[in-house]
Amino acid sequence: MILRPFDPWKSPLCTCPAKLSLNPYTGCPHGCLYCYASSYILRFAECRPKVDLLKRLAREAAKVKPGTLVALSNSSDPYPPQEKELRLTKGCLQILKERGLSVLVVTKSHLVAQDVELLAEMSACVAITVTTLQDSICRRLEPGAPLPAKRLDAMTKLAKKGVAVSARIDPIIPGINDWEIDDLVLAVSRAGAGHITSSTYKARPGNMKKIISAFPEEGASLESLFARGDKVAASCYLPVETRRDLMQRGKESAEREGVTFSSCREGWATVPGTNCDGSHLLSYLLKH
Ligand code: SF4
Repeated sequence: MILRPFDPWKSPLCTCPAKLSLNPYTGCPHGCLYCYASSYILRFAECRPKVDLLKRLAREAAKVKPGTLVALSNSSDPYPPQEKELRLTKGCLQILKERGLSVLVVTKSHLVAQDVELLAEMSACVAITVTTLQDSICRRLEPGAPLPAKRLDAMTKLAKKGVAVSARIDPIIPGINDWEIDDLVLAVSRAGAGHITSSTYKARPGNMKKIISAFPEEGASLESLFARGDKVAASCYLPVETRRDLMQRGKESAEREGVTFSSCREGWATVPGTNCDGSHLLSYLLKH
């Protein structure tokens, strides 16, 4: 199946609304050190298009109730460099639009802005992840992903055309990007984000090792923080008071900028009228 019910990896702390999930590509070239998907998809760094994707999607989308929310993507980025030529994600958007489905695009790539006209004509919101404003940190943490300025620029292009835009400041990793929370909130809200979704880093043995090797100077304190944290499903969480402090800082900062804020897989209730994934921005657009 190409369209599957969204699966938050059995996280009991997920507060996402019901939605379907669609990954036009298998694997992802961004190489984010904290990636969860890379641990369970073979040859993850080799991004390849799904076989017969558009035909299969057209068949499956015909059976889905109009208005249903489809998130693309949760286990890969829907705008890898190949998308520039292949236009597979664009093909998916066209099918979803014709069927009257709503979409939530989640990406780290500025290439999403190449579909701005189409996105502006459909029920769509776009969440762009920005974890740091520093190119040097970005290159170590997300070596294959577009640099922060390009992502902010894409946000502005989309927002200017009336597309609902949110930002994912996600994950926050103590010692690596937590000191930037206020600057990140300021940058994404000025770039046009109407909502911010944030979360703290959830460690798994494989990705923790990668982070410590790329950031050896922060490694020891990160390990000792996680040693005091909790195990939730397959992930290690930071201590609850650390998580609460980090999310509170993000929330206060977002409130100062006049944008809504929610946390992802932290287990805290969302503010009434918002969804943790930013998809409430869709109804806002439909009403206005
Ligand atoms: S963009 Fe997402 S799927 Fe791709 S490597 Fe980064 S975290 Fe993993």
